[in-house]
Amino acid sequence: MEFRKEVEVSKVLVGGKIDESVVEVRYDPLTLQTSRIVKKNFPIQGGDFEEEVVSTSSWCPFCSERIEQMAARDPEIMHGELWKRGEAILFSNLMPYSKYSLVLRITEAHFLKLSEFKPEHFVDSFILIQDYIKKIPEGKYYITIGMNFLKPAGSSIMHPHVQVMISDISTDYFARLDWSALEFMESNGTDYWQKLVEVEKEGERYVGRTEKTEWLAAFAPKGFFHFVAIPEEKEFAEMSLEQLRGLSEGIVKVLKYYDSKNLNSFNFTLYCADRLGEHFRTNFHIVARTPFGKYYWCDVFYPKMLHDESVVFFLPEDYAKEIKEVWEEL
Ligand SMILES: [Zn+2]
Repeated sequence: MEFRKEVEVSKVLVGGKIDESVVEVRYDPLTLQTSRIVKKNFPIQGGDFEEEVVSTSSWCPFCSERIEQMAARDPEIMHGELWKRGEAILFSNLMPYSKYSLVLRITEAHFLKLSEFKPEHFVDSFILIQDYIKKIPEGKYYITIGMNFLKPAGSSIMHPHVQVMISDISTDYFARLDWSALEFMESNGTDYWQKLVEVEKEGERYVGRTEKTEWLAAFAPKGFFHFVAIPEEKEFAEMSLEQLRGLSEGIVKVLKYYDSKNLNSFNFTLYCADRLGEHFRTNFHIVARTPFGKYYWCDVFYPKMLHDESVVFFLPEDYAKEIKEVWEEL
């Protein structure tokens, strides 16, 4: 496993003096996809958006008073029912992205601060998704679970929700993960993520552990403050309650850390190993997005949009060290 990076130094004339800036281009150890780390003193400034919380709650389709009427129904697997557990409600995506395309309303509250999410919000949601996966017909499917929170993360609805995409065809990056992981298994005799934990455990990107789950900062980040979780149990639908709790507790810790840095928006995804084979292990990724507020600025610009090249301003080793120090208290 290679942690390869190239460094470029750029010179800028500032106030009559030459200033040197370092740009790191890092290769993801599995996929070799590159990310650029531009070391920039980037201020993180969230903003107040109370007005938007109030105005969107007046029409929100996921609020409890409207969801029964407005939720799209799944005619086959769920027989037109909504599945509920705790505050979580599972239903069909009105705009499907794949053969089986679902949405989960995960909290009763229309809006939560990142510090207010609880492990149960995710545990209950994940259990509903497991129930659904167990009912889909035999065959190979690419299963991903994802979350967009607030407008900077691409979410059109403020109410916290998770999406599930179950498709015959993988997304572009999932395909890359799948075949890279197969190659890795063939040459190393172990799955990539297990090896990654082994290698990173004593290193400067290791964050900590929750029940049955290891957490680390990604070497080649795909977004701001990119953390990765690697569960002990491989297939999502088969995960024990302890495993789901460990994953969910870690998500809540990362969200609290984001909140402590004035971040308020994020994306996460799970690439599920179910039905893919021994070479794959379910893995979880979370990134913060530029914070929502009056002066919001989008962090996806042309390199990401058209080159599939991530550009970030924060060094994984720095924020891994920072979160590691408070991991147990979060
Ligand atoms: Zn709502």
